[in-house]
Amino acid sequence: MYKVGSCLSARSAGLTGQACCLPFLAKFHVGNGAAWQKSALKYCPADVPEMPLCNFKPEEYKGLSKEQMLEIRRQNCNPMTMKITYYKKPVFIHQGHMQWVWDVDGKRYLDLFAGVATVSMGHCHPKVTAAAEKQLKKLWHTTNIYVYPSIHEYCEKLASRLPDPLKVVYLTNSGSEANDLAMLMARLHTGNFDIITFSGSYHGGSSQTMGLTSNSPYKYPIPTGSGCTNVMCPDVFRGPWGGSKCRDSPVQTIRECSCAHGHCMANEQYIKQLKETFATSLPSQIAAFFAEPIQGMGGAVQYPKNYLKEAYKLVRERGGVCIADEVQTGFGRTGAHFWGFQGHGVLPDIVTMAKGIGNGFPMGAVVTTAEIAASFVKALHFNTFGGNAMACAVASSVLDTIKEDGMQQNTLEVGTYLIGELAKLRDKYEIIGDVRGKGLQIGVEMVKDKASRDPLPPQAMNEMFEDIKDMGVLIGKGGVYGQTFRIQPPMCITKKDVDFFVAVFDKAVHSYMERN
Ligand code: PMP
Repeated sequence: MYKVGSCLSARSAGLTGQACCLPFLAKFHVGNGAAWQKSALKYCPADVPEMPLCNFKPEEYKGLSKEQMLEIRRQNCNPMTMKITYYKKPVFIHQGHMQWVWDVDGKRYLDLFAGVATVSMGHCHPKVTAAAEKQLKKLWHTTNIYVYPSIHEYCEKLASRLPDPLKVVYLTNSGSEANDLAMLMARLHTGNFDIITFSGSYHGGSSQTMGLTSNSPYKYPIPTGSGCTNVMCPDVFRGPWGGSKCRDSPVQTIRECSCAHGHCMANEQYIKQLKETFATSLPSQIAAFFAEPIQGMGGAVQYPKNYLKEAYKLVRERGGVCIADEVQTGFGRTGAHFWGFQGHGVLPDIVTMAKGIGNGFPMGAVVTTAEIAASFVKALHFNTFGGNAMACAVASSVLDTIKEDGMQQNTLEVGTYLIGELAKLRDKYEIIGDVRGKGLQIGVEMVKDKASRDPLPPQAMNEMFEDIKDMGVLIGKGGVYGQTFRIQPPMCITKKDVDFFVAVFDKAVHSYMERN
């Protein structure tokens, strides 16, 4: 009956969507690769539903033509921008409103990547925009050699969102600058030099933070960030160890696990790797350990539940401080907590943040203890724009909006729903290896087949990626092999948006499998 290419007849028989696949899929199990793949092809996703309504009307676009923009990009912009233009047919974005963006032709997209996990309140959120406008008419900039209200209001408000003793705030212009500063602070405070990060991590692109970053495409062939050592990332899906109970996510991996309750063999093995790194690659005393609570660029990679707790202890035993990079996971993105580190039951010594802090306004921050801050006074630390009056007004409104609009609660509810719906697709398609994350920090890792977990090659990823965009949804990509779709939308998305995206994703994966 419903063979490859027979979607039309199935539909005309009134058997659209899930209904036409269930009898087939019930027979197959994860791991039964070839048979499973055939069955998935007999399944025919419903037509993509209408995009959820949006009452907002964008302005008519009257600017540069697409050809002009591409030519300028070729001639006058960083040449790498031609390489990283995400799509074969690029998206020319003209305007944004909440979770929506419009291109120069007036086509609307559901933006599930939010300018790389940054526009967390939504594009041009009315409250944040009003706060920016108000400040714009009063004072754009002076520097922190003067005393002005917005920086103080903000520092107090931000500090109140962090647990004791994390109360001293340094404001920066970006995540890289925040991490640079945290490296320097850790070294001055401890008197040690060596810093550890996870393989596959991204912590910035400056000369110093490039050393923290462990992702080949971002590495230049010059000596950078000396004193940085990578340890094996405790990735419970792709790494050598992992099972069905390891991580703090609504969905576990497809890997089997026979660990008794409260005992995680994968965690033990990854901690052993960390000890091995200490024994072989580092001096007895170190400066710091940097980790994201959920690895963002890596594709929402999650660690065994107790890993960070045990790692923090080992780092502190060696004189190091523990640094949580909350550039992506902060400000409620993980839903259950305001900060990602809270989900691991740890208390860092330094927290770095950026991206969602300003909903797209360029800004970053480092928050630490009074004790560490006291070690950081041997020379002047000054930056012209850090704590700029505009940035502080915007960031202050972001903190208010998270609370007033219930953004964190929405992230928890809608994110958990989205992870659950994506997990159903994982169970349907052989090439969806893993669905993971928390709140709206989500990764969907694509594989050649579930048994090998070999990454799906870039060409295949690109085909689906382009298709998803053409159907009206923007998502991201990540992972060391570019094998993971990243979903990190504005935190105001709804369940209707989720249903739309899941239908689009289902269709894109199905169409890819039909073609190949
Ligand atoms: N840390 C993490 C976890 C990031 O994802 C990024 C940016 N992708 C950075 C640091 C660097 O931030 P920025 O691009 O603002 O310098």
